[in-house]
Amino acid sequence: MAIAKDFGFIGRLCLDFAQTGDMGWGTRFERLTAPSELRRWLSLSPLRLERLSIHPEDLARAKMLRGAIWRIAEASLAGVIPRPKDVRLLNRRAWDRGLTRELDLAAKSMRWHRPTVGAALATIAQDAVALFGDPAQRARIRRCENSGCRVIFYDDSRPGLRRWCASNRCGDRIRAKAYRARHRSQRVDECSDTD
Ligand SMILES: [Zn+2]
Repeated sequence: MAIAKDFGFIGRLCLDFAQTGDMGWGTRFERLTAPSELRRWLSLSPLRLERLSIHPEDLARAKMLRGAIWRIAEASLAGVIPRPKDVRLLNRRAWDRGLTRELDLAAKSMRWHRPTVGAALATIAQDAVALFGDPAQRARIRRCENSGCRVIFYDDSRPGLRRWCASNRCGDRIRAKAYRARHRSQRVDECSDTD
């Protein structure tokens, strides 16, 4: 299945989940607009959860968790203490039983054992706890440097110098903008030379 344009999977489960929200752009940018969209995200995500039954209250719970992860990530970037309410909410989801794997009888592949959306949220919450709770991982939380993009991502590059959420998207845009700006200033110089 091709990855939908509207869902980005950069590589860190909890942050990829957090960016399904409007990221502060306004509610019309909300991407989990219906339980079916949450189901689609879970099937496209690295969790590869197919055919989960998702009710409106599951979606509401997912969005609350997502909001808490997003705000804690923003607080971490700003170097401030997150709201205790958000940390409590994240912890409550993280206490739930997460997804568990099992082996098929031929011992050649694995699958989730009785997956539920609640277990998926617990697994996402556990990933967030591991990220925020580890100073080395926390230091690799970045916001994309493209000013038209607010994605928060985990920098898993070896030197830890990644600047854009996706170099073939925001990186290219920034490079193209810099190129155009250079070109423009060159033209201005040429024009002023002929004066
Ligand atoms: Zn970006």
